[in-house]
Amino acid sequence: MREVIEFRYKRALYELVKKTEDDDDVEGYRFPDAYDQEGCIDQKKRFDVAKERYCERRRSGRVVTEQEAWEDHQAQKARVRFGAKDKKQVVDGYEFVFDDLTGFVEESSEAETGKHRGCYSKTAAEKAREGREFLPIHGYREELLKLIEENQVLVIVGETGSGKTTQIPQYLQEAGYTKRGKIGCTQPRRVAAMSVASRVAQEVGVKLGHEVGYSIRFEDCTSEKTVIKYMTDGMLLRELLIEPKLDSYSVIIIDEAHERTLSTDILFALVKDVAKVRPDLRLIISSATLEAKKFSEYFDSARIYLIPGRRYPVEKLFRKCPEPDYLETVIRTVVQIHQTEAIGDILVFLTGQEEIETVETNLKRRMMDLGTKGSEIIICPIYSNLPTPLQAKVFEPAPKGTRKVVLATNIAETSLTIDGVKYVIDPGYCKINSYNPRTGMESLLVTPISKASAAQRAGRSGRTGPGKCFRLYNIKDLEPTTIPEIQRANLASVVLTLKSLGIQDVFNFDFMDPPPENALLKALELLYALGALDEIGEITKVGERMVEFPVDPMLSKMIVGSEKYKCSKEIITIAAMLSVGNSVFYRPKNQQVFADKARMDFYEDTENVGDHIALLRVYNSWKEENYSTQWCCEKFIQSKSMKRARDIRDQLLGLLNKIGVELTSNPNDLDAIKKAILAGFFPHSAKLQKNGSYRRVKEPQTVYVHPNSGLFGASPSKWLVYHELVLTTKEYMRHTTEMKPEWLIEIAPHYYKLKD
Ligand code: ADP
Ligand code: MG
Repeated sequence: MREVIEFRYKRALYELVKKTEDDDDVEGYRFPDAYDQEGCIDQKKRFDVAKERYCERRRSGRVVTEQEAWEDHQAQKARVRFGAKDKKQVVDGYEFVFDDLTGFVEESSEAETGKHRGCYSKTAAEKAREGREFLPIHGYREELLKLIEENQVLVIVGETGSGKTTQIPQYLQEAGYTKRGKIGCTQPRRVAAMSVASRVAQEVGVKLGHEVGYSIRFEDCTSEKTVIKYMTDGMLLRELLIEPKLDSYSVIIIDEAHERTLSTDILFALVKDVAKVRPDLRLIISSATLEAKKFSEYFDSARIYLIPGRRYPVEKLFRKCPEPDYLETVIRTVVQIHQTEAIGDILVFLTGQEEIETVETNLKRRMMDLGTKGSEIIICPIYSNLPTPLQAKVFEPAPKGTRKVVLATNIAETSLTIDGVKYVIDPGYCKINSYNPRTGMESLLVTPISKASAAQRAGRSGRTGPGKCFRLYNIKDLEPTTIPEIQRANLASVVLTLKSLGIQDVFNFDFMDPPPENALLKALELLYALGALDEIGEITKVGERMVEFPVDPMLSKMIVGSEKYKCSKEIITIAAMLSVGNSVFYRPKNQQVFADKARMDFYEDTENVGDHIALLRVYNSWKEENYSTQWCCEKFIQSKSMKRARDIRDQLLGLLNKIGVELTSNPNDLDAIKKAILAGFFPHSAKLQKNGSYRRVKEPQTVYVHPNSGLFGASPSKWLVYHELVLTTKEYMRHTTEMKPEWLIEIAPHYYKLKD
């Protein structure tokens, strides 16, 4: 039986269409569903396409993530209760994705593969390359330093993995820049900041947090000694609030500039201004793509320096049609590569933790089904919430005779370089956040990547030798580049930061690419409604206090507003728990019934009270149990999330002190706690409809209680306040709590009025 399976695997693998020409340059194809009549990109349609694919994948029922399984499970329960007729069709069984194609394995390829199997080891050359002087950037050290000396602003472009992030700060430190101030280097992602700082500390030979450190939201790993500081772009933005001229820095490196995150885009304008008043400050804009000209123009024709990288040819294989069930295809492709291709590690791009965990579980199972024949694979996941010790594992070379399979989010696209990768599997999706200014709906959506991303991903396989990239899509279906986040994000937080920095006219701010005007308007409206801005758009006292908290304005308003209801202690607990909210409870596969029961204990007595209150109870019970890990296990609660919540809570506590809010507790007055929640989240109110769904009070939009909510399936509350909306198969409200409509009038009379 195994032979048949293996044969089919091989056949399928080689039925990926082989392409010889460089297909990254293909132009002119339009994703038909994603364009409107004028031929403009219609984001909504594009997202709809992604959503449709997502639904299709679920309908097929083959690889289902935990979340999806639960949604289905819960929805099924609800259907039984309400007697709906549409029973879900579960398609079981085992299908070969590539079976519909024709073509066969090339003999020569087959012959080549087996002989290398199971003899993977790092060569001396590979090991040597890990040394600093073997990185491509090394030969350009002097020239680079000279250019930095002579030019206040320098745009640096270099192939990913050439050593920009780890080496430039060290060169600057060696050249004496740290005598004048710190070297700050921003990263769009927290894992990148942590991981790179840890690597550089190792290279410099110091303890992380001493001379080399990092700073990410809710975690500061720096000290008085720190001279090389890696941080998220959002953190530098916050530092600007305290130190508007960045006096403690001699150099600022805006790294991964091509990512164009919201914070990076805002930083561009702000550091450009700082540079004008600080001629001694050096500014480096570092990017992995050739968008350099745009950066240079923006920074008043700044000099561009190109670091030539080493790049080996990458053979690209692709699927002509997009894969609806791409997780299953990924698993098959990994197995196929492992069984038929020469030594070398595999890097798989997935969209997030859940997909990674699903693929990990299913891949392990599949490998077990196939028996012990052949060499072992070592699966290394990497995503932003992965605990730090496991993050380091991804960089360790695979033991002899094994093959490493890295399951990564697009963190591995340009931020992190993992040596030894020879094969890349790219399903062509990533998660991006999208915001609809009209409805205020914000969602993280699985979306097709851009051609630029596809090229970067493929390039990951050709760093240390020729590589292969398996694309589970057709490159022609992709847009050339990703839309900068600023054009698809909720701008409330950014606008508040700008106002706090004294920037009055946000419409004429020096954006590299301006955001849509209605998104700015919506942000101003919300900040006004929250009381953070006054009628003429100036920041208020409340606004100044809100800015202190590194959280979304609604959440910071909830915290600041808790003073009035004398429950600030409870509210910071809820805020901290919401910040880790989706990873508090877990449901092991064979104990789901127990897990659900344990969870519902936190809702008992007051069935419809809500998720916010349940989170508060979880935290307080944990505290009563002396922060016990054992207790977490018994209650099916993730202790690492709880520890993180405690850290976040401690910091919020410090900030409350800083702004002079008295710490008060009102544990038994649930109405007061709910009112404080509403003080920040009154725009997120929903009313029950006759058919059991909800309707947003201010928007004509139907929304549903999330299956993860303790209120799901309970006898419905007429009025709810929710934390956020997420779009998966439906528009779900995540973290909902019951409330009274008269509170809306009491708390936000400027926003709601009674119907005549
Ligand atoms: P660039 O910024 O130009 O993409 P980097 O400076 O990030 O390049 O990477 C240079 C080298 O350092 C790469 O070979 C990469 O594998 C290695 N490296 C970076 N971070 C780590 C880490 N945390 N552990 C091990 N190696 C790392
Ligand atoms: Mg880098």
